[in-house]
Amino acid sequence: MAYGFDTLQIHAGAAPDPATGARQTPIYQTTAYVFRDADHAAALFNLQEVGYIYSRLTNPTVAVLAERIATLEGGQGAVCCSSGHAAQIMALFPLMAPGRNVVASSRLYGGTITQFSQTIKRFGWSAKFVDFDDLEAVKAAIDDDTRAVFCESIANPGGYITDLDAISAISDAAGIPLIVDNTSATPYLCNPIEHGATLVVHSTTKYLTGNGTVTGGCVVDSGKFDWSASDKFPSLSEPEPAYHGLKFHETFGALAYTFHGIAIGLRDLGMTMNPQAAHYTLMGIETLSLRMERHVQNAEQIAGWLEGHEAVDYVTYAGLKSSPYNARVANICPKGAGGLFTIALKGGYESCLKFVDSLEIFSHVANLGDTRSLVIHSASTTHRQLTPEQQEAAGAGPSVVRISIGIEDAKDLIADLDQALAKASA
Ligand SMILES: *Cc1c(COP(=O)(O)O)cnc(C)c1O
Repeated sequence: MAYGFDTLQIHAGAAPDPATGARQTPIYQTTAYVFRDADHAAALFNLQEVGYIYSRLTNPTVAVLAERIATLEGGQGAVCCSSGHAAQIMALFPLMAPGRNVVASSRLYGGTITQFSQTIKRFGWSAKFVDFDDLEAVKAAIDDDTRAVFCESIANPGGYITDLDAISAISDAAGIPLIVDNTSATPYLCNPIEHGATLVVHSTTKYLTGNGTVTGGCVVDSGKFDWSASDKFPSLSEPEPAYHGLKFHETFGALAYTFHGIAIGLRDLGMTMNPQAAHYTLMGIETLSLRMERHVQNAEQIAGWLEGHEAVDYVTYAGLKSSPYNARVANICPKGAGGLFTIALKGGYESCLKFVDSLEIFSHVANLGDTRSLVIHSASTTHRQLTPEQQEAAGAGPSVVRISIGIEDAKDLIADLDQALAKASA
């Protein structure tokens, strides 16, 4: 029987603890696991038997979270990591090699633009940024060295929704996996795999945990990509020297990418999620659908109110009829466009600083997707390292404030915004 989302967000991956009957998933706060005997140890290290060796690789609490997220996303398997940015490196790692590139949307989380435009160059990888509304440009950017196409479902922070069906048709035709960052939408609002994504990455720091307590990330594999269809992904299709010549795809089939992520990615890069973090995120996920419904309800009401405010130049919320991306909501995220958007203030840079300093319920922080309402002036903070052109392309120009609507009373949030806007435009 196929359970619904509300049931799966509470039960998927978990069962009463076999040793104690504990109903809630215990925090397995252990580094290592005792082998039954030397043969058992050898079988585990040969990947002939699945089990626990060492918590850099796997841990029972973290495994419950990985299975929960994989299930909610409709994937075959998942690997949890120490942060969303770790998940992005982990997602690319099996695919890339020096000289290879990723074709990425120019509308991405600011930190991702920095990671892709600067830091990955140290590995000999590169990114080509293109406007993902220009399908011809996406096609043209894919070359013989391209090993992944990367975008966000609902892009942070610009209120931009990607036409995932059109993009996955292009990546499919090129024989290249599509990686979708589904952080802002969550699997409750959007299922990238249904729209052709090969891999889904998350910053679990945000809505999945939902309470601003821990950083974390996750890579989900759809299990649908044929890694052996070309010679482009030798680490998955050919004998892997880092694992005594094991052929991951031949051996593990639809779980090849997930096993590679654990046996090589976590083993050698060590970007592991700890069991405490997994616990907090499991607590958060139990109420994901309830929170997302309220985030959407509040965001729709508040974005509409802001749009009519005299101090506000524009509001980029895809849930508004005025948004050029409103037409994509019904197909990509039919339960709503999320709780994240930007506003531009007519008063410009200085007015934005006054606005964020005057808010009382909203906190000025570098986070989003919390139960609490949050704001940030991106141009002076998260997007500071970007060029003015990159800031504009990412929807984070000098007069723009990013707003993450929480699940408080909408009337209180509106009153807070109202008094801060009055001060900002005085
Ligand atoms: C926050 C965020 C990230 C990075 O995640 P961390 O957990 O902060 O490393 C990546 N993508 C998006 C869309 C994000 O919002």
